[in-house]
Amino acid sequence: MKEKIYMIPVNDAFNTNCECPVCTLEKDLENKSIEFILGPSSMEPDTRVTTNEKGFCRRHWQMLYTRRMNVLGLSLVLDTHIQIQMNLYKKMFEKSKKAIESDSNTGALSNLANQVTKKSTATTRFIDDATQFLDQLEGKCEICDRMDTTMDRYFDVLFWMYFKDEEFREKVKNSKGFCLRHYNMLFKSAKKYLSTRQLAQFTLDINTLMMDNMDRILDEVQWFAQKFDHRNEKASWKNSEDAVPRTIEKFVSYGNFK
Ligand SMILES: [Zn+2]
Ligand SMILES: [Zn+2]
Repeated sequence: MKEKIYMIPVNDAFNTNCECPVCTLEKDLENKSIEFILGPSSMEPDTRVTTNEKGFCRRHWQMLYTRRMNVLGLSLVLDTHIQIQMNLYKKMFEKSKKAIESDSNTGALSNLANQVTKKSTATTRFIDDATQFLDQLEGKCEICDRMDTTMDRYFDVLFWMYFKDEEFREKVKNSKGFCLRHYNMLFKSAKKYLSTRQLAQFTLDINTLMMDNMDRILDEVQWFAQKFDHRNEKASWKNSEDAVPRTIEKFVSYGNFK
């Protein structure tokens, strides 16, 4: 029996009428993760160990700020994160500073020779280290990491329920399919969790579901455009009034499109 704690949200997401139940799951998880980071732990220096080390990606710094939930807590998270990361960076610079200063006094002849041969210098070596440091800082995010772990559990449970619970399987088959980002994630995860037979069955089912729903959304967005023709002025919008944001979501997952 898989953990119930993950089964309930997965089941609930498939009860929602939406373009992608995994988007519904992930959006909820993302909101909860933002609230957790801005909760009481943000005020305790001891619990900020991981946020000091990783920080957040661009999307999640932005979400943490625009939530306006605990700006004091967020300022403390920023405070210790910057202190720790800048101390590491300063140490790296101090170690190379003398050699960079000596590069800055390179004579005209060696200067020209180095430029021609693209010789590595103390300065280029420092810049390589600095950009590597900045790249890895930009690539880390405590919220993305937390979400990846839970999403993996959700996928595991989703596949388990798909093959154990007929009612759930029918719910998936009658859903509107997935956004392309989660379709891709589902395939990668399915390869990890399913046996050969299950993987083939799931691929057939999901591809049918996706193709049908991509045709459906294409019809909807086409009808949206056709409604601008004066001959269709009085015709019903059918399901197309919000077809543009829904189609974008179908491609790139949830965002601020509505
Ligand atoms: Zn999605
Ligand atoms: Zn992130």
